[in-house]
Amino acid sequence: MRTALAMKTTEPAAAVAAGASPPAPAYLSLDGVGKAYGSRHGAVQALAGIGLEVREGEFLSILGPSGCGKSTLLKCIGGLEDITGGSLRLRGRPLSGPPPKAGMVFQRDVLLDWRTVLDNVLITAEFLRLRREDLKPRALQLLQRFGLSGFENRHPWELSGGMRQRASICRALLCDPELLLMDEPFGALDAMTRDDLNLELARIWQDTRKTVIFVTHGISEAIFLSDRVVMMDRNPGRIVEVLDIDLPRPRHLALRETPEFGRYVAHIRHLFAGLGILKEG
Ligand code: ADP
Ligand code: MG
Repeated sequence: MRTALAMKTTEPAAAVAAGASPPAPAYLSLDGVGKAYGSRHGAVQALAGIGLEVREGEFLSILGPSGCGKSTLLKCIGGLEDITGGSLRLRGRPLSGPPPKAGMVFQRDVLLDWRTVLDNVLITAEFLRLRREDLKPRALQLLQRFGLSGFENRHPWELSGGMRQRASICRALLCDPELLLMDEPFGALDAMTRDDLNLELARIWQDTRKTVIFVTHGISEAIFLSDRVVMMDRNPGRIVEVLDIDLPRPRHLALRETPEFGRYVAHIRHLFAGLGILKEG
């Protein structure tokens, strides 16, 4: 199927070159980023030659098979891992260590079981040495927004997986980060809960226009949420294509049933089939 012709894509190398005159100012730039891990069996080249311009306020998904370096890429951006090649820039300035205003959400929520939901959300204030009391109203407001009113004083083990992930998102949003890094945040949830959270996240993004980098291996989820989808392959982890998702917002779940949406799915499936990652059928 020649779906590619109708789509706006950027080759990885061109993605860097396009940095000279991007449609919106480059917020985060990755130039030739590489990451090698040392291991007992020798070095593992988890990322090689990653070139990408992340635009301020965009919703960008990173899509690829297991082991292609999605988590590594997110950790390098979040300053949790050092890069071993290339450079990272935030608004044009070299970035080393965590970006100053970033929030992170992981696949496995890292809520502390002995703390209440509210105290788990407020932990961000403690990390940043801010006064808990100052941030409590915002924490309660976020919990309400994510449907967790009435659960503030419960403990994580009393919550469903979806509720725990909602609490993790509240925690990441507490200090109003300008960059939200999410590593397969809904990967462990059932399909219906995942749909709910996709909708909530789309709504939050629409209201706040934070820059979001969202790692997933769900094709449909990536298309539904994103302005652009970065597709990766493995050995070594690298970008193979950047696809613009030109679908109207706000997006409703029914969008996934439309031919336009289907064309994006087909395009991505075709690309991954060509790489031997998916079977075409
Ligand atoms: P993904 O998130 O796409 O599944 P990862 O970023 O977790 O991929 O891993 C990319 C590659 O790097 C894999 O080959 C993985 O085994 C390797 N890797 C990840 N973390 C480490 C580590 N701490 N030490 C050594 N190798 C690692
Ligand atoms: Mg991962």
